[in-house]
Amino acid sequence: MVGSLYIHIPFCLRKCPYCDFFSIPYDKDIEGRYIDALMRELMLRKDAIGTINTIFIGGGTPTVFDASSISRLLEFIVNNFGIDSDAEITLEANPSSVDGEKLRVLRDSGVNRISVGVQSFDDAELQSLGRLHNSATAVKALSIIKRYFANFSLDLIYGLEGQVVKGWIKTVRTAISFSPPHISAYELTPEAGTPLGRRVSRGETVIPHEDAIAIMYGAAAEMFANAGLNHYEISNFAAPGFQCRHNQNYWRRGLYAGIGAGAHSHLNMHGGTVRSSNASDLTQYLTAIENNSLPVHETTIINTLEALKEYVFLGLRTSDGISLKEAGIDSPGLTKLIENGLAEFNGAKFRLTRDGFLVSNMIIGQIIDQL
Ligand code: SF4
Repeated sequence: MVGSLYIHIPFCLRKCPYCDFFSIPYDKDIEGRYIDALMRELMLRKDAIGTINTIFIGGGTPTVFDASSISRLLEFIVNNFGIDSDAEITLEANPSSVDGEKLRVLRDSGVNRISVGVQSFDDAELQSLGRLHNSATAVKALSIIKRYFANFSLDLIYGLEGQVVKGWIKTVRTAISFSPPHISAYELTPEAGTPLGRRVSRGETVIPHEDAIAIMYGAAAEMFANAGLNHYEISNFAAPGFQCRHNQNYWRRGLYAGIGAGAHSHLNMHGGTVRSSNASDLTQYLTAIENNSLPVHETTIINTLEALKEYVFLGLRTSDGISLKEAGIDSPGLTKLIENGLAEFNGAKFRLTRDGFLVSNMIIGQIIDQL
């Protein structure tokens, strides 16, 4: 039985050129039908869902939906499933699609955490990201969010075209001025297949050099630490007690059910676990659900070796680290990482330091190759 639900709302007002998530243009006419489909899928998966302790409504841009639609969905969940009294219920929001009334309705419907995609406080950077909001809209959205939610998070992105360290530090400083209990800071990845990825590979867009990226990462981590935000995952920082419980479940290889087009699940099956994904196609998704069948597109059985790789890969992204004993790793290479200040071992847990996080892909790749 799973206690975590991820609900995907794949609609956005406009596609950002760097985005490789499953998102499609918002269509007001489909909103009610999509919420009905989510409710049907929840019922189809009822046997796999236990007492719910976290819900994450992500996207896409869930706030393009009317607050009453989200409210109808949450009411349905409350009426049909058990929910912990202190369940964490997060909703992703876009600065350009929130207002006080919408946030009030969402809060009164049970949402108790908002994750807002600010990305930058620099108008030119926001424009290069193709975002619809500007800095003033983000500032206004944050001041409204703070009025309704004590628990909120800001997403920021660094490594943008034309971005310099000084500009990034200004964005970080502005973010901290809102005293957020949680910040996620992601390095921009020019994914192949996105307009940005194509422009970077053709040399038409130049992103900052890796040395500048390293300085940006270190500077932000230092500033967040000084603001009382602990570095609990490579890209995530939180005040004590404000870590995102939903994401912590992912990083600990916990089980969850993903509801909605393109959503992923990790479920118990056949004495082990499976990872599966729903069709990333709205028509396919709606057709399957409306015919009372699960829109599962792909299923992968996680064998013992895969489970171990996931444990190492996900665990080393967090400040909790991994148990070398549990992972069955005993390698002289690890001592070298510790000597070079890239990792630490406290006798029980092995974890990466801030410098180690910077080169985590390389380190984790090397460790996984030995499994
Ligand atoms: S708003 Fe978010 S999900 Fe939508 S296109 Fe932009 S980055 Fe992708």
